[in-house]
Amino acid sequence: MTAANLSAIYGAVELVAIALFILGLRFLSSPGSARMGNRLAAIGMLIALASFLIQTQAVAWWVITVGIVIGGVIGLVSALKVKMTAMPQMVALFNGAGGATALLIGTIEYYANSGAPFGAVIAVSLVLSAIIGGLSAAGSVIAFLKLQEVMTGRPVTYPGQQIVNSVVALTILACGVWFVASSGQMPPVVFLGMLAATLVLGVFFVLPIGGADMPVVISLLNSFTGVAVAITGFELNHTLLIIAGALVGASGTLLTVLMGRAMNRPLTNVLFGAFGSGGGSEPAGGSGGQQNVRSASADDVAMMLAYAQRVIIVPGYGLAVAQAQHAVKALADQLEKRGIEVRYAIHPVAGRMPGHMNVLLAEANVPYPQLLDMEDVNPEFPTTDVALVIGANDVTNPAARNVTSSPIYGMPILDVDKAQNVVVLKRSMRSGFAGIENPLYEMPNTVMLFGDAKASVDALVAAVKTV
Ligand code: NDP
Repeated sequence: MTAANLSAIYGAVELVAIALFILGLRFLSSPGSARMGNRLAAIGMLIALASFLIQTQAVAWWVITVGIVIGGVIGLVSALKVKMTAMPQMVALFNGAGGATALLIGTIEYYANSGAPFGAVIAVSLVLSAIIGGLSAAGSVIAFLKLQEVMTGRPVTYPGQQIVNSVVALTILACGVWFVASSGQMPPVVFLGMLAATLVLGVFFVLPIGGADMPVVISLLNSFTGVAVAITGFELNHTLLIIAGALVGASGTLLTVLMGRAMNRPLTNVLFGAFGSGGGSEPAGGSGGQQNVRSASADDVAMMLAYAQRVIIVPGYGLAVAQAQHAVKALADQLEKRGIEVRYAIHPVAGRMPGHMNVLLAEANVPYPQLLDMEDVNPEFPTTDVALVIGANDVTNPAARNVTSSPIYGMPILDVDKAQNVVVLKRSMRSGFAGIENPLYEMPNTVMLFGDAKASVDALVAAVKTV
């Protein structure tokens, strides 16, 4: 077979891989088809790796195979072992690995060069992929450490911080321009100094951001990694890398924008606002707190549920913490047996990562058609007998609608307060992520069922059976 024929075959195989990546993303956009999307993208990646393995002449094929096997085993074991609440940390680490790879490739290309000047495209792509990759790698490690609570989740700030960050960023920029202008003929010590500065900037960039904002930051860093990988594709003249990187870059950017919009916070506020203390450690509302709340027993709530016709379950971060998803499904089954209509209201930023609630409820085999998006479910609340709020707080806070001074004013919320009865399951009067009072708890149609969400829902299942 001629070289031209072979190259056409490889091109066609890579096209299949790219089509699978795009289809995978398409399917990932709905909970019902997300598993299929994941599988398609994984098959695409397998094809891409196999094609690379056959084509490459840089190192022996078995070396790459060993690398693929080690990476595959790490990925498999982590995916099996990681708790659902720790998923953002895992994504941060994997994303950091992508950024570090772009940084390493840039460094290796610099040192592998025999001394001849780089062409303009290679010089620009080498320096950009190394800088962006380094930034993403170091930033992702700090995001991981914050989420894993190895270091404080609070924003780390000090006077003049933005000036220091700007100086480091400008130094890197100047070195980058020097690299390109000299066609890569930069002394190694300056090149390495520039890379070290990108790592420092990655750390400085994430330090002032609160732990609970990390999912937004990870999504942003993910888009950085995508861009770094795409640029690496130019450096290595590798179409598949360019397209795969562009897909990651674009989807990471879109996700970042969508998360910001759902929280009604501009990205600048997330990055530079030092918002979020890690959430929920202080009693809501500072000095006074909320006193006028009515608490109910599991038996009272079970009675209310058993005689309802329409119930909407509103899951939030506390459901994930309590791992109450299976108990919630058991409760829904009990209610449905009694002919009660049960549906779930899904807020786009409920929990601590995009799609958090969808994933949890899917794990408990809740049928997808019962999951309603915010726009679809909000008109349903006024005709709902009971809105059962399980570990959700900020996403139900009516202050977002009418208290202009509230930090979450303008954030779209689930209109649970418009239901005939509202039952809130949480452990205490502590605040949620935003650290603010929730007037919902003092409304005349609201009762609180205090306790761990799983224990409370288990008690409800038992009590509903006896009604
Ligand atoms: P919140 O953080 O507002 O509230 C969660 C509530 O759950 C707390 O008030 C807590 O109260 C309760 N809780 C915690 N553990 C338990 C438990 N074991 N049993 C029962 N209740 C428990 O969560 P929401 O889901 O309502 O809102 C998400 C927030 O996170 C929003 O502000 C959003 O902007 C933000 N965010 C979301 C991201 C995402 O991608 N989804 C990313 C970044 C931020 P108590 O301690 O009293 O039990």
